[in-house]
Amino acid sequence: MKKQSIWLKDFKNNVTILNKDIDCDVLIIGAGITGLSTAYHLINSNLKVVVVEKDEIGNDVTARTTGKITYLQELIYTKLKKELNEETSKKYLESQLEAINILTSIIKKEKIECDLEQVKSFVFTKDKKELKKLKEEKELLEKFGVNVLDYNNAIGVEDTYVFHPIKYLMKLKEIILNNNIQIYEKTNIIEIKKEDEYVCLTENNKIKAKKVILACHYPFFLFPLLFPIKGHLEKSYVAAIKNKNRKMSMINTKIPTTSLRYHHDYMIYLNNSHPISTNNNDKDNFDSLINTTKKLGNIDYIWSNHDIITVDHLPIISKITDNLLIGTGFNTWGMTNGTLAGKILSDIILNKENKYTKLFSLKRQKSLNTFVNILIEVLRNGKSFTINKIIKNKNWYSSNLEFKKDDSDDIAIYTDDNNQKHIVYNKCPHLGCSLIFNEFEKTWDCPCHGSKFDIDGNCLRGPSKYNISYKK
Ligand SMILES: Cc1cc2nc3c(=O)[nH]c(=O)nc-3n(C[C@H](O)[C@H](O)[C@H](O)COP(=O)(O)OP(=O)(O)OC[C@H]3O[C@@H](n4cnc5c(N)ncnc54)[C@H](O)[C@@H]3O)c2cc1C
Repeated sequence: MKKQSIWLKDFKNNVTILNKDIDCDVLIIGAGITGLSTAYHLINSNLKVVVVEKDEIGNDVTARTTGKITYLQELIYTKLKKELNEETSKKYLESQLEAINILTSIIKKEKIECDLEQVKSFVFTKDKKELKKLKEEKELLEKFGVNVLDYNNAIGVEDTYVFHPIKYLMKLKEIILNNNIQIYEKTNIIEIKKEDEYVCLTENNKIKAKKVILACHYPFFLFPLLFPIKGHLEKSYVAAIKNKNRKMSMINTKIPTTSLRYHHDYMIYLNNSHPISTNNNDKDNFDSLINTTKKLGNIDYIWSNHDIITVDHLPIISKITDNLLIGTGFNTWGMTNGTLAGKILSDIILNKENKYTKLFSLKRQKSLNTFVNILIEVLRNGKSFTINKIIKNKNWYSSNLEFKKDDSDDIAIYTDDNNQKHIVYNKCPHLGCSLIFNEFEKTWDCPCHGSKFDIDGNCLRGPSKYNISYKK
């Protein structure tokens, strides 16, 4: 069993690292599905476009997705109708159908071999109390003109897909590079300054850009005290299990999510989703996934992932200022919404009309529910921050962990199987949350905003831009 996403199996890539100061018209920060989709739509724009990626193409959230391309997304349409209004719900449906069309058209036009397959998708429930909600979702979708398949405890649609997200991104990268857009990988932006233009700093170089697009998933530097209340991170655990392919995908109606799809002779099975600030005993969470799937077959790959859930369930694809744009908050539906973000953000850059700019704008109308959800975020984050600072979850850990004070610094010591000690600062450089040791993946994880560090403190995933290696 490999502790790695199945999409990274056989991953081969050549990277170019930025080693000089450069200027450009548009800088895209992040090369997941959002960043590369945006760059793709800026080909032929006559603008000098540059993409920077702190790791390698797609190697963060997109590499750990389940890769469904569907508009049947739990009970999103009734939720939007109830919490916002019916018009918003209908517009969101249209946007998802358009995103599927954009994505599949690019795959066909560019002849991208990424295992695209049309499969039925279903939303199901095992809870009798949820049946009424399922019926409401079906009726609303039918009212919007969708042909819905109806079963006892599930509804389904036919015009949806699955694919291999990393094969898709690797081909997009090739097309983008062939069209004179530079992509620099292993290039981490650590600061963005606003002068006459934007100046984005890496450790050794600077990039001057007229416009900047934040396609970096978590907006790591942006009004850091405000973004955390606009959403939370939802974490899930995924396994690729040897199984017969059944050419369909499924998800249940509510948290904790159970979701599955097939890829060649694997079932990709997801469970145990929860807000990242709660239920963080990852050893238990992975064990539960392993136990639940025991009867289904052998697990070959196992991994975890998290995505941003916004307070009003809509993505944020928007101008922040005239020259600073953002695409994030995809509520675990980033294959469609990241694709759509690429089109909307490039349309904004090119001064083209796009009928979804208002729907996903940061300035969209807020409902009472939005404010209630913001309050819940504040309370949840505050509770998690405080509890983790005090208890450090010591009761979860085996005896190979020690927490100490070094002068005023909190440090943590992990002793490995060869009796070697690995010392790190136990404080996330992003916003100062205490880190939790993930015994399954052997990483230090931030329970507030999802940063991940290896046992020697190297930052594996943001929003932290810095390591936590102990220097003394
Ligand atoms: C378990 C799980 C399953 C999912 N399954 C599905 C699914 O089946 N279908 C679906 O539609 N969606 C799914 N999603 C959601 C989807 O995977 C995400 O919404 C989407 O991948 C996000 O893409 P992104 O480009 O915004 O982020 P990312 O893929 O994370 O890309 C952002 C990039 O920015 C880079 N970056 C960050 N900071 C910096 C910096 N300072 N400098 C330079 N680069 C930086 C990162 O390294 C990263 O590569 C799932 C999510 C989860 C958690």
